[in-house]
Amino acid sequence: MTLEKEEFNLSTKASGRIDVLVPRCLIGEGANILGLTVDFEGLCSLQVEWRHGKICSIKGLKDASKVPNEILLPRFSEPHAHLDKAFSWSRAPNYKGSYQEALVANLNDYKSRSQGQLLFSVEKSLNLALVNGIRAIRSHIDSFGENVMRDWDLLEDIRKKWRDKIFLQFVALVPLEFWQTYEGELLAQRVALNGDLLGGVIAPPFNKKKTIKSLLHLVQLANRLNCDIDLHIDESQSCPAAGVKLLLEVLGHIKNEISITCSHLSSMALLREKSISNLAKAMAEKKLNVVALPLTNSWLLGRNERSTSIKRPLAPIFQLQKAGVVVSVGGDNVNDAWFPFTNFDPINLMAFSMPIAHLTPWERLGLSPFTSSAASILNLQWDGVLQKGSPADFVLLDSNSWVKALSERPKRRVVVNGEFLNELPKNKKLTFNNSHP
Ligand SMILES: [Zn+2]
Repeated sequence: MTLEKEEFNLSTKASGRIDVLVPRCLIGEGANILGLTVDFEGLCSLQVEWRHGKICSIKGLKDASKVPNEILLPRFSEPHAHLDKAFSWSRAPNYKGSYQEALVANLNDYKSRSQGQLLFSVEKSLNLALVNGIRAIRSHIDSFGENVMRDWDLLEDIRKKWRDKIFLQFVALVPLEFWQTYEGELLAQRVALNGDLLGGVIAPPFNKKKTIKSLLHLVQLANRLNCDIDLHIDESQSCPAAGVKLLLEVLGHIKNEISITCSHLSSMALLREKSISNLAKAMAEKKLNVVALPLTNSWLLGRNERSTSIKRPLAPIFQLQKAGVVVSVGGDNVNDAWFPFTNFDPINLMAFSMPIAHLTPWERLGLSPFTSSAASILNLQWDGVLQKGSPADFVLLDSNSWVKALSERPKRRVVVNGEFLNELPKNKKLTFNNSHP
């Protein structure tokens, strides 16, 4: 990085200029960088300049022999988190690591969870996410107990407090049939009013008739209230794709104009190749989005006592991408009964999930699930593609290659609305735009 004296002065006014390596697939405009070399890891040596929080120039370096020693990435969007239960492992551990035990521990903890504990989980998560380079989070929120409205009031306060630093989108996570109740209707109205989403769980064993009825009601409700849906669907090692098949059946009977995200979709990968490709095409036709969650899936699914299973159900990312489905990769649970590790670090997520999912950072479709596709699923105004006029919202990794960046835990600097995070004056109010359009 080069920051000369005059440039430093610029940077204090949300402006700056740096020499960096940038993934070619994240650069939106080609005119000024035509003819530049792209290295074997898909990185270009560039000078990026910004003024008043917006990129004003991206061009090749004059001296091509000097390779910059930082990688610039757009700040990340986390498409699937559970902020409300993060860091609850010490209260609700799950040493066996099974899905069923996670569920029991989760429900027990939820019943007795205090407002203080909820606040602790969310605040700790957001503080980590900010310094690790996250700009937006979609979080599912357990919403079926007697304290639901109290919890959502608290979350609304937190969202307001954080809105200039991290954009928050919530999904009300409830049993599917809850949306047919009076309380469900009230919650749905609140969710829709705030631009949040309706959620639910479809995992085997389930009653087909009852589930179709609940899904039909949910999709109709979401369309009536004009709010989107994000489902935990087929997070299982049995009954391959049984949930998404029901969803497609329902969508075949009614007109749907809202966006539906299928989170997990793990068991779909257990189908035969031809069935995967047919189902993926049907999903693309209905414009369903997918969030794959390799870490929790690998941890919870396919466990078989003291016998190591090579079957690790995970959304068939490549086949879905090939059919035209937007797929992103999320972090899911952090230090709770469902998954004990990680810490809202998108680089950590890439390093752990890329080997599981066979994704590579030097390919467009390997990187997009962590960058532009995640932003697209959250329906953010900025998709994370870097070009003139886009927000100066960056993560700078102290590394000159992907291999190094994903092997070591690289030091990083975060730029928010053109200003370096650690150089922000205390209590300074930021204004940057990543809101839901
Ligand atoms: Zn989840």
